[in-house]
Amino acid sequence: MTLLDYDREHLWHPYASMTDPAPVRVVTGARGVHLTLDDGGRTREVVDGMSSWWAAVHGYGVPELDAALRSVDFAHVMFGGLTHAPAVRLAERLVALAPAGLERVFLADSGSVSVEVALKMALQAQRGRGRAGRTRVLTVRGGYHGDTFGAMSVCDPDGGMHAMWTGVLAQQVFAPRPPAPGGDVAGWAAAFEALAAAHADEVAAIVVEPVLQGAGGMWVYDPACLRTLRETADRHGFLLVLDEIATGFGRTGELWAADHAGVVPDVMCVGKALGAGYLTLAAVLCTAEVAADVSASESGALMHGPTFMGNALACTVALAGLDLLEARGWRDDVRRIERGLADGLAGLAGLAGVRTLGAVGVVQLDHPVDLVAATDAALAEGVWLRPFRDLVYTMPPYACSDDDVARICAGVRAAVAAG
Ligand SMILES: *Cc1c(COP(=O)(O)O)cnc(C)c1O
Repeated sequence: MTLLDYDREHLWHPYASMTDPAPVRVVTGARGVHLTLDDGGRTREVVDGMSSWWAAVHGYGVPELDAALRSVDFAHVMFGGLTHAPAVRLAERLVALAPAGLERVFLADSGSVSVEVALKMALQAQRGRGRAGRTRVLTVRGGYHGDTFGAMSVCDPDGGMHAMWTGVLAQQVFAPRPPAPGGDVAGWAAAFEALAAAHADEVAAIVVEPVLQGAGGMWVYDPACLRTLRETADRHGFLLVLDEIATGFGRTGELWAADHAGVVPDVMCVGKALGAGYLTLAAVLCTAEVAADVSASESGALMHGPTFMGNALACTVALAGLDLLEARGWRDDVRRIERGLADGLAGLAGLAGVRTLGAVGVVQLDHPVDLVAATDAALAEGVWLRPFRDLVYTMPPYACSDDDVARICAGVRAAVAAG
């Protein structure tokens, strides 16, 4: 059996059917910002417009990251009762990079798990404050926070992801989607505050993605909305949890998307680019006050501890990735890519909704994308894209040259035309 035949028979892919799977392609190599595909015996090199789901910001086969992985003394040891330099140094680095005050770190093994931990922290912190009745979460429509059940409960309720889970998921409180930049922030803020006031006694935390809502629809909203969230949280004693898993580490043009508004959360989730696209890693940072409140709850501890918590390989490559982020000058790269995306996608504005923010370019069609046709059209331009719903979008690796970005834009235009 060929790889593809066995794959088709036996292997689940993300959000896929096992009886009628969409086609997949075999990758035989990844180097720089290029993927090598085996196209029925023919080798094809394409520019990666997705950064492997927004994680591989430095690209592939990066000498510094490869060397870091080879340098480890051990790959993994349990984190219960043990600690090690890679985990401690990574925590130190994250605290230094994070908005001031976020200085307690929980290392998790994926973004979804970090969201579960953040939710648990919020509920436990409220218990520690003597408010055990606060067990719900206030969020906004249009969000995406992961695929585990707690994370799913705060995803957009109409986004298809959990329409079939009514009665299974925790019932959270959903406010309207925040307005696009320049929209009616005051009107939205009034509605948000009214909803918050109505549910104040039962809400533990506000959980949102700052400024850019990713897999829930690639919505960009006015950063001023974040200040409303902070004020509302303070007024009612909610924790403010910001999910920076997609937006963190410079993707939107600031190191943290919350920096666009100068807002500091009580709890922050990071992931995706944290593992530099090499290994799965996420983290939850919180304030000393939240940590103390959690620890004052009846269990006296944060009740979470994944088997692979603090994985030494992942922490080591994460540290090397953060070194590269600084050494390569992420801010200039993201600005450069932002200009390239704005130029390369400008011609589509008459046909479809185009939005760019930092190293993110989004084209929203007026119909669901034909995934197979759009993917093929982008590949014919030498670009790997993965459209979803009515969206063709790109999050290029920061390591892309101007020519790579121009090529990606050609791929997006072709996908839009075909899809
Ligand atoms: C991808 C993503 C997650 C989930 O992370 P996984 O590592 O896939 O579990 C959560 N929140 C946001 C904003 C994300 O983009």
